[in-house]
Amino acid sequence: MKWMKVLFFLTAILGCQTSAVWAQSILVDTKILRVRQEPKGKLIGRVYEGQQFIVLNEREGWGEIQFEVKQKGWISLDYTKPMMDIGTGVPIKPFCRKLNQEFDRLKWKAIRCNSDDWRAEMQSVQNSPLIYTVIGNKSPTSLLLCSVHSDENTPYQCFRLHKLLKKQPELLNHRVVIAPLVNPDGFLKTKKTRTNIRGIDLNRNLPTRNWRLSALKEWKQRYQSNKRRYPGRTANSEPENQFVVNLIQKFTPDKIISIHAPMNFLDLDYLDGTVRNSSQRTVFKKAKALALHFSKESHYKFRNYRTFTGSLGRYGDEWQIPIYTLELPSADYTKSERYFQGLQRSLFHSFNVNLDNLNTVQIQSPSKKIKIN
Ligand SMILES: [Zn+2]
Repeated sequence: MKWMKVLFFLTAILGCQTSAVWAQSILVDTKILRVRQEPKGKLIGRVYEGQQFIVLNEREGWGEIQFEVKQKGWISLDYTKPMMDIGTGVPIKPFCRKLNQEFDRLKWKAIRCNSDDWRAEMQSVQNSPLIYTVIGNKSPTSLLLCSVHSDENTPYQCFRLHKLLKKQPELLNHRVVIAPLVNPDGFLKTKKTRTNIRGIDLNRNLPTRNWRLSALKEWKQRYQSNKRRYPGRTANSEPENQFVVNLIQKFTPDKIISIHAPMNFLDLDYLDGTVRNSSQRTVFKKAKALALHFSKESHYKFRNYRTFTGSLGRYGDEWQIPIYTLELPSADYTKSERYFQGLQRSLFHSFNVNLDNLNTVQIQSPSKKIKIN
């Protein structure tokens, strides 16, 4: 708990908003931790090992967190640990240099990593900066993730979209956060890997609530312990995932689009289809209308694909965020530009849709109006 006091102290001294947000994130460090209405008060819920929270308030060794959607409570900080070390800024230039060499090798001529375009406060296992950028300032926010699985050659889509946005910022009506390379270590290997450098499938390691009970069991039974899908020993053990969770908690996106390959479809996950009240039903209807619109215009088949313990889809189900998983038709890097051309309009249309305000008719209006020069 001492560490928490030190962090709050440092945050106060630095007075830097970025540090303040990042510095107060904690991970649950015990199998199950009780959540109380107030310190030592009535039991109102539970949180689980590996779950990550921003501490909103601190009082005598207790921290207030948002433990479920719209629900706050207090946990004892004795059973938590700080999230990975956060710097005030990780150098990006040498990383961009390395990336550009790799882009050259792949003959990705249309994209470049310019260090001025990106920011990073966190690092991967091998100390690569976990880069992202925020474009636009009007709510709501969409989060775009590329290269969670780095053998799928998807960073092209994120870098290319960013390049287009720099040229034509007017294409965007709302804010978008882009994390173009969630798994940089796997991408920078000569033989790219699906997993991160520690052999963990990031899309099975996110802190979903039943992780401890199901993740390894599912991996052994469903995947016969296939190394490409190893979920790790504890939920959210990987810095790359702590980075993703932090982006979600910091920017509270109304939707997340994660680009993968090569299954050639668009999948929507939202509450696993089990909507419980009218506001959830409304969000689901609009989220689905957007998915169908995207599918129709970009010719990606809409498929209701299942979620997995520790996957982003399951995480989105639990936190009521629509997750769009876009699977490109192949991981063939020579086709990256062609795939981008087929996607760009639908991506902008999705970013510009406000799932809270617009009606489904507006969502379905054709995105041909988007003029890309
Ligand atoms: Zn994938």
